[in-house]
Amino acid sequence: MSLRFAHRVERLRTRMDEPFLEALLITSRPNVRYLSGFTGSAGSLLIGRDFTVLLTDKRYTLRAQKEAVGFEVVVPDNPDDDILKTQLEARGLRKVGFEASNITVKTLEGWREKYNELGVEWIATNGVVEELRLVKDAEEIACIREACGIADAAFNHIQLFMQPETVEMDVAMELEFYMRRQGARRPAFETIVASGENSAMPHAETSERRFRPGDFVTLDFGAEVNGYCSDITRTVIIGKATEEQRRIYQTVLEAQLRAIEAIKPGVKGCDIDAVARQVIADAGYGDYFTHSLGHSIGLSVHDGMGFAQKSEVVLEPGMVFTVEPGIYIEGFGGVRIEDDVLVTEDGCEVLTHAPKELIEFSAD
Ligand code: ZN
Ligand code: ZN
Repeated sequence: MSLRFAHRVERLRTRMDEPFLEALLITSRPNVRYLSGFTGSAGSLLIGRDFTVLLTDKRYTLRAQKEAVGFEVVVPDNPDDDILKTQLEARGLRKVGFEASNITVKTLEGWREKYNELGVEWIATNGVVEELRLVKDAEEIACIREACGIADAAFNHIQLFMQPETVEMDVAMELEFYMRRQGARRPAFETIVASGENSAMPHAETSERRFRPGDFVTLDFGAEVNGYCSDITRTVIIGKATEEQRRIYQTVLEAQLRAIEAIKPGVKGCDIDAVARQVIADAGYGDYFTHSLGHSIGLSVHDGMGFAQKSEVVLEPGMVFTVEPGIYIEGFGGVRIEDDVLVTEDGCEVLTHAPKELIEFSAD
């Protein structure tokens, strides 16, 4: 096993004392990848005090052996063979943890029924690996940095592509195509292009709507590089901004900049959220900032905890978060500005650099 993965598995083992676990079954795909390096779509890990097993199927035998070095790769000889049962039985495991957020009640009931005769007690765990994933190592940061660079380049590119009457969907497709051409494996998530009244929805779906003069257009997109994500949002105006649009935009930008300034080790996630929320409330738009300020990113776009009103996460160097305040007014439109930031020893570094001054698209 490479040092990198061995270190992660060792850290995981230190979390297996409380509650006491003989083994932990890892089923979440990004967690499987994080701990073993295995990128296949079907596989789970059984990690014990002195063993590391990757359970997969024959389609993935070779890939698993190549990627998950140091893991014992187990595949069923026949599709009906229960390789988990074989492992539990052969190793005499009784207290086995599982990832509660990743397992359905139905699956759990099935296990209880099937493995009852072995005397296995299934113990729910929550966010154990996600917590380890919060602090990134140098290699992970390099991947996120690259993903951020591609997103920045895509925003610069799309400004040349966008016209005052472009269709949302065309912009989304062009963004995704461009990011892949620049080396992204895939978009980090489904690209959002939301114009006019659609921009008033924080999680709008890209539609066939054509831009119209006076629209706010929100572009929310990211690239995936070696499994790691970037996530950026910029809002632009079609035509000239009205005074109110400008005021809303400046308020969101001010909230974002102030929150970024406050990011440093030792501060709690909820305190960063509060900084941005206060700026927006002071400007009179408090009721229109309807979501959390940001989330941790890494192997998934939502990598665990973040900047939320109840977030108790204490910032440490190596954590990477989005900072994305917004103001959404039904029937009028919305603004969101999002960057990715790395917590450093004495503050933070903004990893996305696409311009943030208000861009107004005119017909000429
Ligand atoms: Zn986003
Ligand atoms: Zn985000």
